[in-house]
Amino acid sequence: MNEALRPETPLEANLRVLTDEVGGRVPGTPEFDKARRWAIRAFREAGADSITTEDFTVPQSWTEGNTDVEVVAPARFRVRAQAVAWAPPLVPTRARVVDIGIGSASEIAKAGDFSGAILLLHSDVLKSWEDLFNEYFRAPPILDFAVKGRALAVAFTSTREHDLLYRHINSITGRIDVIPQVLLAREDSLRIQRMIEHGDDVRMSLSIPNKIGPAIASQNIIAELRGSERRDEVVILGAHLDSWNLGTGALDNGCNAALMIDALRAIRAAGGRPKRTLRFILFSGEEEGLFGSLAYVRAHRKELDNIVAELVLDAGDGAITGVSTQGRKDVESALRPLLQPFARWKATGITNDAELGTDNFDFMLEGVPTLLPNQEPANYLANYHASSDTFDKVDVKQLKINEAIVAGLALELANAPQRIGVRYTRSEIETTFPDTHLDDQMKGFRLWGAWVNGTRGRKP
Ligand SMILES: [Zn+2]
Repeated sequence: MNEALRPETPLEANLRVLTDEVGGRVPGTPEFDKARRWAIRAFREAGADSITTEDFTVPQSWTEGNTDVEVVAPARFRVRAQAVAWAPPLVPTRARVVDIGIGSASEIAKAGDFSGAILLLHSDVLKSWEDLFNEYFRAPPILDFAVKGRALAVAFTSTREHDLLYRHINSITGRIDVIPQVLLAREDSLRIQRMIEHGDDVRMSLSIPNKIGPAIASQNIIAELRGSERRDEVVILGAHLDSWNLGTGALDNGCNAALMIDALRAIRAAGGRPKRTLRFILFSGEEEGLFGSLAYVRAHRKELDNIVAELVLDAGDGAITGVSTQGRKDVESALRPLLQPFARWKATGITNDAELGTDNFDFMLEGVPTLLPNQEPANYLANYHASSDTFDKVDVKQLKINEAIVAGLALELANAPQRIGVRYTRSEIETTFPDTHLDDQMKGFRLWGAWVNGTRGRKP
């Protein structure tokens, strides 16, 4: 797919407009509307056969107000802080701060009575994907514990140094979270932790005027290159277009939204048609709880037997090293030869792990084979959801190589004589859980009930 690698492709200019001129794009905001128009225009210029938008509902809207955090005793200083996304508001209140370490069972047991207090959580500096997953999984039980003990609010410590803040979410169930929460700049939090450790009775004033509103509509944007032979069989390429808005959503996930559009252009420009249809979907509502992809599988359930595979990008621009089958070991042997064209970029590795966290999740729960490229972390984690996630962080040269791989693999999937795997039944999906621990991940994210009661995933 040399067309992706040419120096003068529109990829970089498109991404610059999305990040610098549109900026952070939360569903329901004017910025998201601008991003939607950007996507439609770019898909049209790329040469899509069709472009449609599909509405869905995000069950609530949430906006941060003027979050204000200050230590008022024994010293007085302002704390750099950000409201945790999807957490409820708090009227201005003063309270004592109780340090509960990382919130382990023994630390919780030692905490004593903390009703009316602000619980302060420690964190490690984010270095690996594992750290990030741990950060997400640690939060829900701590929040439950905080509610049970009638804490006023929970204050998390930023996992990034040098005052860097990020927009974090601890609930992806679509409901507003159970207790007010703030994220404190690491340096301020460490200062508070040291004061408490030395016996100070630290008091903090907290104002978190988040605005919570009714459901809002958002849209997935869908573009197609129609297949020449098996038009009804579809390879989906997906990336979410929405982002948080402290930064401008460059690594997460603007670079990959722009990549998908340019992949369509590159395939079209290379000439010829894929045998099966290629459907490019820019999802919305991903950051709030995978709402766009969930809505898509619900609206298109009748067609899911015809989805050959869904290929999703949502991990920045680090070099692609291969593909994760998301637990589908059965597709491995058919996939291996399709990756061989990318040996020159060392992108032929296959892993069978599965992660709950992006727009392949509900497709996976419907039994559709989903593929996530494995990528070098590069600078993704350092800037994850942070004010520093901006255009200047993107390595456009590497992004073009990733595009060449993704566009090439999509064509391989679309042109292969046989599909790489069938749609799994519900019981077949469950056979992947012991190895992938997707069940544990769902439990950690409070989504297991939705699988068990059938509101999410394939029906028996
Ligand atoms: Zn993302």
